[in-house]
Amino acid sequence: MTKSIFEQAKPILKTLQSNEYQAFFVGGSVRDFLMHKPIHDIDITTSAMPEEIEAIFEKTIPIGREHGTINVVYNGEHYEVTTFRAEGDYEDHRRPNEVFFVRELYEDVKRRDFTMNAIAMDADYHILDYFGGQQDIDHHIIRTVGNAHERFNEDALRIIRGLRFQAQLGFTIEKNTFHGMKSHISDIKYLSIERIVIELKKLTSGRYIDRSFQNLQYFKAFNYIPFFKHYDLSQMILDESVPFSLFIALLKVQQPNVKGHLNDLKISNNEKKHIGKLESILTQLPNIKSKSDFKLFVYDYSQKDILNVLTFTTLIVKNNLPNVSPLIVNAQSVKEIANQLPIQSRKEIDINGKDLLNLVNKPSGPWLKTALREIECAIIDGDVQNIKPELIKWVKTHV
Ligand code: ATP
Ligand code: MG
Repeated sequence: MTKSIFEQAKPILKTLQSNEYQAFFVGGSVRDFLMHKPIHDIDITTSAMPEEIEAIFEKTIPIGREHGTINVVYNGEHYEVTTFRAEGDYEDHRRPNEVFFVRELYEDVKRRDFTMNAIAMDADYHILDYFGGQQDIDHHIIRTVGNAHERFNEDALRIIRGLRFQAQLGFTIEKNTFHGMKSHISDIKYLSIERIVIELKKLTSGRYIDRSFQNLQYFKAFNYIPFFKHYDLSQMILDESVPFSLFIALLKVQQPNVKGHLNDLKISNNEKKHIGKLESILTQLPNIKSKSDFKLFVYDYSQKDILNVLTFTTLIVKNNLPNVSPLIVNAQSVKEIANQLPIQSRKEIDINGKDLLNLVNKPSGPWLKTALREIECAIIDGDVQNIKPELIKWVKTHV
C-alpha cells in the first residue's frame, strides 16, 4: 500500500495547516505515487519558516537548518520538512550562492529539476502541478522545469540526475532537455565526485540502463569525471543493470593498463575492498583449469561474491573479458564445491605458525607464510586431512 506512508505523515501536514501554514508532499514520493511505484522517503515542503516548524512540533532535529530543512520526529518516524525555497545565482555550475525562504509554493517548485519532480500534493491528495509534470509522467518524458540550457548551466548535476531517472524509469528525454544536456556536459567537471557517485550508483542499478549508458557515452560524460576520465568508456557495454562496484571492477579488468585510482571516487574503504575482491574474481575465473584450482578459488573468495559475478556472465563475455566455460564453473558447481570444503578459513587449520617453527627448527621468516599457505592448499585439495598428527606428518615430508 503506497498510500499508507502518506497517511502516516498526513498529521504533520494537517498540523502545519491548522497553524495557518501551507504544507505539501513534493518530489520523488509524489512522482512515484503517481506512477504507482513503491515510495521510500517522503519530502514535505511548507510555507513555515524553520523556527516556526520548530515551534509547532514537539520533537525536531535541525539537520539542515540553514537550507531550511528540519527533521520532524512524529510517531517514531523521521520526516524532512523544508521551508519553501527560492535560489539565488549559481556559481561554478553547482550549488546556488544563496537560498531564500519564500512563502509561495510556486517559487519552490520552480527551482526543482524536472517536471515530474516538481509536483506537489496536499494532505487530501489534491495535486498542484504547475509545469505539466503529470502529463510528462503519462507520456514517459523527462523534461526540465523551464529552459533546459539555463537549468543545466545552473547545476550540471541535473544532467546526471536526468540520465539516472532515464535508467530507473525508461523514460525518453525531451528534445530541448537532451540538447541542453549535451551542451553542458563538460560542466560536470565542477561537481563534487560524491554527488556524482550517488547518482551513478542509482544509474547503473537502473532497469533501463542501456539507453542511459549509451547517452553517457554519446555525451562523453566520463571524460569529465575523476577516475573514469582515464579509461576509454566507449569500449564498455552496459546493457543490463549492475551494482556500481561490479561496473568499476569490469572496467578495471577490461583495461588493466589504465592507472585509475579508486581513491579519486571518494568511496568508503569497504567499497574499495569489495571492488578489489570482484576484480580478483574476474581475473581469476579464466585461470581455473582443474578441479583443485576450482576448489581453491571457491575457498579463497566468498561464495556469495562468486555467485554474484556469475550472474553477469553474458555481460562479462560482451565486454571481451576472458571467461571460463559455464559447464565447469556455474552456480550449481560453486555451491557443491563450497559445501564440500574441509575448512572455511585459515583459522580452522589444526596447526599454527608456532607448531611449524618447533617442527622445522628454522628461524622465523617469510618461508613460514608460504608454508602455511601450502598446508592450506593441501587441505583444500584433499591431500591431507585437517588433523594435527596428519598435518605434522605432511609437514615433515613436504616443507
Ligand atoms: P529518489 O526517489 O531517488 O529519492 P528524488 O526525486 O526524491 O528521487 P532526491 O535526490 O531525493 O530525488 O531529491 C528530492 C527532490 O529535490 C527532487 O525530486 C527534486 O524536486 C529536488 N532536487 C534534487 N536535486 C536537485 C537538483 N540538483 N536541482 C533541482 N532540484 C533538485
Ligand atoms: Mg528522494
